[in-house]
Amino acid sequence: MIYLDNSATTRPFDSVITAVSENMAGNFGNASSLHKMGINAEKVIKDAKAVLTGALGLEGEILFTSGATETSNTVLFGVPKAYKHNGKRIVTTSFEHPSVENPMKKLCEAGYEIVRVKPPKRDEPGGFEERVIGAVDDNTLMVSVMWVNNETGFITDVAKIYNAVKRKNPKTIVHCDAVQGFMKLPGKTLRADLISLSAHKIHGPKGIGAMYAAKGVRFEPLLFGGGQQKGLRSGTEPTDLIAGFAEAVRSYPDCSAKYAELSERLKNRLSGLPDIGINSYNNAKNILNFSVRGVRSEIMLHFLEEREIYVSSGSACSKGKTSGVLAEFGVPDKDADCAIRVSMSPFTSESDIDALVEGISDGIKRFRR
Ligand code: PLP
Repeated sequence: MIYLDNSATTRPFDSVITAVSENMAGNFGNASSLHKMGINAEKVIKDAKAVLTGALGLEGEILFTSGATETSNTVLFGVPKAYKHNGKRIVTTSFEHPSVENPMKKLCEAGYEIVRVKPPKRDEPGGFEERVIGAVDDNTLMVSVMWVNNETGFITDVAKIYNAVKRKNPKTIVHCDAVQGFMKLPGKTLRADLISLSAHKIHGPKGIGAMYAAKGVRFEPLLFGGGQQKGLRSGTEPTDLIAGFAEAVRSYPDCSAKYAELSERLKNRLSGLPDIGINSYNNAKNILNFSVRGVRSEIMLHFLEEREIYVSSGSACSKGKTSGVLAEFGVPDKDADCAIRVSMSPFTSESDIDALVEGISDGIKRFRR
């Protein structure tokens, strides 16, 4: 089996499976309990927070959630309620994940002005961060910019945006969906007031995510209940999943050089095939989006699946529904229909890449019209 759909989700590390099952078996207390079992469970949370802030290289609070979707919803609906008098303008991008874009639509209905900055064109790179910064004014409540785009791998310099926004309007809160960059881009290069993270994209368990919040940043909670996590996210903390999340962070190796080499290899091999268009630019090297012109994505995806090679159709955010994000990156509709997204992991090898390209080559011979 060759799994190249790691932007969708990842195979849990063995160490993660061990950490989760050991906690479930031997450390199942409720972190709110006053006895020793509660204290042991609480320690799991405390240790995991230190692991996450350490990996980010930031000082601040960590809140555990059910995933990045919940984190981003909490931020996007909670910040406007906590800072009612800071303005009505929200600056974001035209290529956010639905977990940010759909809350933005709701905020627009509620009367907020949403400014969506488009990515730079492939042949005119640069200037994107400046345009985001330029869109911030005295009335700007919040900026929300993703770190790495999940479809093309496009990287935004969020720290640059953060620093300039704080100089221009110190009241503006900067949020970042860092799901696809966390542990994959060099660590400690991100800066934001609020950050969305997810465990299952870094070989941790599904159903557990986190919010990083810089000291003093406020938001109204999304969930009310037993008052866990200082009342900011009620609900019994899933300490076994939290242990798994921390273990995934500890276990994720530095793959920057590996991803760069594999990405070059993939691009070189693809350049030997007819009618390939590369859709990614300024991208994280673990993600490559390309079009196999003349063969629809789903046809190629299922052809590769027969060989137990798993990729994603490059333009779909959920089953059968295209997201329109590729169009934002200048990919014509006919190429978007033929797009394939390959996303790698620490498990990916050169022979996986070669088998993929061989599969695509055979697919082209069989299906291209
Ligand atoms: N943001 C990005 C960029 C993603 O790729 C995903 C996952 O598809 C999410 C957010 C949602 O994360 P979760 O599955 O943890 O809710």
